Amino acid sequence: MRTVGLVGGMSWYSTLEYYRVINEGVQAARGGHSSAPIALQSLDFAEVRSCQLADDWDRAGELLGAAARRCEAGGAEAVMICTNLMHRVAPAVETAIGIPLLHIADAIADRAHAEGWRTLGVIGTRRVMEEDFYTGRLRERGLAVVVPDEQDRAEADRVIFDELTQGVVTERSRLRFAGMIGALHERGADAVVLGCTEIELLVRQGDVDVPLLDSMRVHAEAAVTFILGDTGEPAA
Ligand code: GLU
Repeated sequence: MRTVGLVGGMSWYSTLEYYRVINEGVQAARGGHSSAPIALQSLDFAEVRSCQLADDWDRAGELLGAAARRCEAGGAEAVMICTNLMHRVAPAVETAIGIPLLHIADAIADRAHAEGWRTLGVIGTRRVMEEDFYTGRLRERGLAVVVPDEQDRAEADRVIFDELTQGVVTERSRLRFAGMIGALHERGADAVVLGCTEIELLVRQGDVDVPLLDSMRVHAEAAVTFILGDTGEPAA
């Protein structure tokens, strides 16, 4: 198996889910006591969050780039940034390492194409919905993107940072997100991307009728494919 590097801790609530989904996938494929070779660097999210609030993306790129390098030094053969928003500094991370970065938007685009979805709704933090580094990459892959209106974008961003990334899950926010998902479907989305790695802690497929594409899960499944994809070794 190949080792994957995770740059996590953004927040640790979703990194836990990455760890779980990747290990479950490897164990399902290989059986027995098999578990995933992972080199994890878990950052202090308070430090990353202060870079976001100060608009200091150079510093954020240095922090994540250094963490990715430590993954590489720890044996990783590819690295993943375990958050959608921090893919804003993906170019700096790629420059810092000599191994591939498995980009979250590529995992999402691959899944959308496999499902035959052409138009995706995207809910996440404000910059994920409003800037080009994320939705632009989906568009480059031939997908159309719709995002919530201003009021819903503000509320999604608020819930993510005031609640989900601090481990707070409320029924009120679940209903609010379900409403946003429905609105994107009405505006033409074939499926809605949960474009923040904590949203699956709040809303799951059983909560809504619209197909969901959960960024954490799809990205973690891409890690499983990478880990297993090398070898043809017999399963243990
Ligand atoms: N985990 C979130 C995301 O996927 C937001 C936390 C952050 O990285 O700022 O975008």
